[in-house]
Amino acid sequence: MILSPGATIGILGSGQLGRMLAIAALKVGLRTHIYAPEAEAPAYDAAAGRTIAPFEDEEALLAFARAVDVVTYEFENVPTATVEFLSGRVPVRPGARALALTQDRLVEKTFLRDAGLKTAPFTAVDDAGALARAVAELGRPSILKTRRFGYDGKGQSLIREGSNVSAVHRALGGAPMILEGFVAFEREVSVVAARSLEGEVVAYDLCENEHERHILARTRAPARVGAETALEARRIATTVLEALDYVGVLAVELFVTRDGHGHEGLVVNEIAPRVHNSGHWTLDGAQTSQFEQHVRAIAGWPLGATTRRGRVEMHNLIGEDAEDWRDILAQPDLCLHLYGKLEIRPDRKMGHVTRVFPETPGEG
Ligand code: AMP
Repeated sequence: MILSPGATIGILGSGQLGRMLAIAALKVGLRTHIYAPEAEAPAYDAAAGRTIAPFEDEEALLAFARAVDVVTYEFENVPTATVEFLSGRVPVRPGARALALTQDRLVEKTFLRDAGLKTAPFTAVDDAGALARAVAELGRPSILKTRRFGYDGKGQSLIREGSNVSAVHRALGGAPMILEGFVAFEREVSVVAARSLEGEVVAYDLCENEHERHILARTRAPARVGAETALEARRIATTVLEALDYVGVLAVELFVTRDGHGHEGLVVNEIAPRVHNSGHWTLDGAQTSQFEQHVRAIAGWPLGATTRRGRVEMHNLIGEDAEDWRDILAQPDLCLHLYGKLEIRPDRKMGHVTRVFPETPGEG
């Protein structure tokens, strides 16, 4: 099913990603309808329609399905049952499979490994005894993560020399977990890519990410890696998109490693079945933003060019950073994006700032 201008995209989730998707949809003559449980949230301002209801409310979901032409999601903790319920009634892109897969780190890592991609070594951990065996197998340091509902470093713990393994296990609440071997990476990078309804794949240039307190602080594009590594990242994204028969934008987070001979390598950390914070630079720094790209893909439209407009830096405005909005506006080469959140809270993503440095031809 291909959308015509004037059609409506249903978005599950009401955060800043939904807001920026809704703005991108408007630009190309499409409307959006947000479905989320929150009464107030960033996406509503930008959308023509809203349903404020729990994700389990079948009556509200039925009405939503009737009101929209295609459904997408902007965060991966939407219950898969919600997406499956809607799938029988309206096209959902990307579908339930990508969502289910990325909700469970063990299922996700197993999928990546089966697709022939390199991940950190990992083992399922169901109880304290299994953890002791897993630590013996993977060594220290290693990272214990809950299988579900982890984000921004929540639900994970580093097991070092001397760590009390059962105390670490208890602190994470005894939920099903996964232990990962520690990857001694040089830098963290991500590739944002899209696949159309017809199976065309495009990717943005690999970008490099710096985190502070487990939250993305800065992204720069392109990443400082060799040309072969950049190509390899693109191949990895294509493998994932095709294996999932995916429609829309997806991000793959990767670690860059260096072996004893100085060769760069890539290890896949995780995939996000949605537009991604490390792709925000594309709003000002690429021919087609990741948000418009996602809209085009799920509308069944041709994808846009991913050409970069220069070297780009993106800074997240986290918590009180957002109070600097006046100073940012006063600098002519900065592009300010605020998400319309009324309350500043520590660690809350309030907006972001982009700077594009035009490259002169021939510059690498
Ligand atoms: P995640 O929630 O899996 O994205 O992990 C959050 C952050 O923890 C990553 O961005 C890395 O900096 C670090 N991390 C996660 N897994 C590993 C690993 N296996 N080895 C080393 N660092 C890791």
